[in-house]
Amino acid sequence: MQKCERCQRSFKWWELYKYNVKNAKLIYCNTCSTEHELEGSSILVISLIAMPIAIMNVFVIYLFDLPVLFIFISNIFSLWILSGISPFFIRYRSKFRSNYKTN
Ligand SMILES: [Zn+2]
Repeated sequence: MQKCERCQRSFKWWELYKYNVKNAKLIYCNTCSTEHELEGSSILVISLIAMPIAIMNVFVIYLFDLPVLFIFISNIFSLWILSGISPFFIRYRSKFRSNYKTN
């Protein structure tokens, strides 16, 4: 799990989950209030995971001739799972790192 780059306190799963659900680009440490910015590469990682899941959902539904509503439910469910595990691989950086807000 991501740690605060200033005070080294680990962010809690629910803290990061809350920020991810809100689609926040900036998060703040609860202890020292240090601002952490979402790393661009994390967005890419999310897309690389979400895309195959979405394609697979459509493929499975087509293969088994399931109703279109099932695609919708299945994608919502996949997104829900993805958002649940996202705190484990989404990375943030703070001004205590040299490349903060440079790309
Ligand atoms: Zn902190």
